[in-house]
Amino acid sequence: MNIKANLEFVKKSFVNPECKLIAVSKTKPLEDLREAYKAGIRDFGENKVQEIQAKQPEMPVDTRWHMIGHLQSNKVKYIAPFVHLIHGVDSFKLLQEINKHGKKIDRQLSVLIQMHIAEEESKFGFDQAELEEMFASKEFYELTHVKIQGLMGMATFTDKQDQIRKEFRGLRQLFDNLKNRNLPEFVDMKELSMGMSGDYQIAQEEGSTMVRIGSAIFGSRN
Ligand SMILES: *Cc1c(COP(=O)(O)O)cnc(C)c1O
Repeated sequence: MNIKANLEFVKKSFVNPECKLIAVSKTKPLEDLREAYKAGIRDFGENKVQEIQAKQPEMPVDTRWHMIGHLQSNKVKYIAPFVHLIHGVDSFKLLQEINKHGKKIDRQLSVLIQMHIAEEESKFGFDQAELEEMFASKEFYELTHVKIQGLMGMATFTDKQDQIRKEFRGLRQLFDNLKNRNLPEFVDMKELSMGMSGDYQIAQEEGSTMVRIGSAIFGSRN
């Protein structure tokens, strides 16, 4: 597996060269992360708390750690001190828990709200009604230690390109609508995290600002 060559290939195939690349290194050994780091990557995505916790002290201090998977409320405390961006905030309860831990260590924690855009039931995320419910609740306006920087979503796992595009387009429209809403100061809709190895070009065509790419860089996972 030539990680450097894969990275060059991926970068060259970007539809939007400004789009940020998160290298998804879950299940991969540290030597692979170091190789990607040497090739210029600073943003790494992991989906398990234990794994991100184990890798973090072993990598250079300017590495930016992205928690991209489902996060359990009782594990927020383990990543709060170092995490750069939590992509998968899929409930108000989790957001409040993140806020609580941010407060405890006096650190503003950056997050993305994960929206459920896929057909599959199994994927996590808010639906629009839940999002509105959160915006309507008094507790939302009392958050002090989170920074909502945008939205994240995962398309349906399918070969149907038009369906993937439709789902990404819907998320982009919501993102644009929220930019024009009167929301508290800690909401700054600037990042749209959508696109993985199989669909990052479609995602970029639909306005993604951040893609999370694993297997196209590090090879397939077991
Ligand atoms: C694993 C994972 C990715 C990367 O998937 P690839 O298909 O390997 O690029 C992206 N986002 C999330 C949330 C993931 O869990």
